[in-house]
Amino acid sequence: MYDCETTEMGEAKKKQQRHRRVMQAANGCIYCAGRRRAEQVDHMPPRMMFRLGQRPKGLEFPSCGPCNQGTSRLDVAASFMARTFPGIATSADSAEWDKVMSEVHRVAPDLLREMWIPPHEMRQAMWSEGIFDRNFAAFRADGPIMGAYMQAFAAKIGFALHYEATGNFVPPEGRVQVRWFTSSEVYGGRLPPSLFASIGTPRIMQQGKITSQGNFEYGWGTYLESPDVPLYYARVREAFAAAAFVVLDEGSLPFPEGELATFAPGDLVMPLSDRITAG
Ligand SMILES: [Zn+2]
Repeated sequence: MYDCETTEMGEAKKKQQRHRRVMQAANGCIYCAGRRRAEQVDHMPPRMMFRLGQRPKGLEFPSCGPCNQGTSRLDVAASFMARTFPGIATSADSAEWDKVMSEVHRVAPDLLREMWIPPHEMRQAMWSEGIFDRNFAAFRADGPIMGAYMQAFAAKIGFALHYEATGNFVPPEGRVQVRWFTSSEVYGGRLPPSLFASIGTPRIMQQGKITSQGNFEYGWGTYLESPDVPLYYARVREAFAAAAFVVLDEGSLPFPEGELATFAPGDLVMPLSDRITAG
């Protein structure tokens, strides 16, 4: 008992010191190009994304209050998506699923309405898949609102990993262009090989015996088709992957603005409604 408490106190102290270092190194919030001072530590990927909350330390970023709180709805949507594949296996998963769903309800009611399938349609859909267990539920996870949330989350990955890799935030004139990939694109071999050729072995987060292997893997390289453009990458469980291109000025975007979702610093906290596109 005593040992256990000492260890926990040690961990808490280490965490405090780590957070202090994150804040001391900061020149401002990394999500709004330092427009506001960094006052909080943002965890990207969020703790909620990990089963049983077992998130290894690291990937902690200086953030202002508005960006930290304003992007938490993206964290919730992505944490929901993370649990779609593989899905619920244990009662602990099931309890966590309920928690994630109630968070979706709280912070993203528009998303919940889009995901909702009327019970009779849901039963029919599941019967057609050969699922007869009434404890299972189906949700629509491929709607345009979910797409807008996932694009913004992919951009959050870009802002964060760019800071991790370079020690600098994306400047005010900079932009992040993103594409996210569904599970079937990742595992159906439909990822363009030229996209990820330079990334090499993905990195993982690690803390003692806990690693993020298989849950969150990430990396960076350059985009083969325009080698000046850094490319950041993350894969979350078997559920989705995200690619983010970062440029330091708007004139050097690798794709036309209408072709890939494009984010400026500060955009992540704006309403997603104007970003929702059909298809
Ligand atoms: Zn900010």
